[in-house]
Amino acid sequence: MRRPFVAGNWKMNLNRQRCVELAEGLSAGAAAGLAAEIAVCPPAVYLDAVRQAIGDAPVGLAAQNVYFEDNGAYTGEISTQMLTDLGCQYVVLGHSERRHILGETDVDVAKKVSAALAAGIKPIVCVGETLEEREADRTTEVVSSQFRGSVGHLSDADFEQVVIAYEPVWAIGTGKVATPEQAEAVHADLRKLIETSYNADLASKVRIQYGGSVKPENAVELLGQPNIDGALVGGASLEVESFLAIASAAPIAG
Ligand code: PEP
Repeated sequence: MRRPFVAGNWKMNLNRQRCVELAEGLSAGAAAGLAAEIAVCPPAVYLDAVRQAIGDAPVGLAAQNVYFEDNGAYTGEISTQMLTDLGCQYVVLGHSERRHILGETDVDVAKKVSAALAAGIKPIVCVGETLEEREADRTTEVVSSQFRGSVGHLSDADFEQVVIAYEPVWAIGTGKVATPEQAEAVHADLRKLIETSYNADLASKVRIQYGGSVKPENAVELLGQPNIDGALVGGASLEVESFLAIASAAPIAG
């Protein structure tokens, strides 16, 4: 069955020392054994320091973004090969902050997803509706369209490497969390969409994380939903105790 996966998106926070201390604290906690797989997404400039702090501990390393071209005159961008050089296993793509603040489109995300997979990096692909879209009853339409536009082009073998993160934009960094019922309904829809776009086998295997103000206090209920396979955590991933508490809330895969 699907092993829950909890990833911490540190966004543009912390400094080198705090990143290393957080990675060391999480590594010690993970070494004691967790039912969930965990990963951290530090700022790109600290990936190397964090990888060294993790050492052999069972903590995955993820980038927060990547560019789709292999190399060349793309000032400020980072390639997939640069990420594999640094030991990244995952990359977060299509985060709502990149979609809404930095203008990233589904076409951009789809190209990045393909580039990451070609380099052997597993993409964590974010989808989610704004408050306005939810209130207009457009959640399913928006999330399905982002899904098709970002990962609908992949082969079955490639899609199996993908993690989907459902992150309602109105719940990110706002303290407003989707109720377990609201989140589970979208996750169940997404799993059906995987079944119709790909097949039932893939639908049963691919992990769908929930993201949006996940905290130790709401994690047990959210992560206990049948179609929620872990979390993408922002604010609460910046402290060892709260992130490990969320990771420990994930049920053991049955
Ligand atoms: C996120 O950054 O993906 C996120 C869900 O942030 P927060 O947990 O702070 O809402």
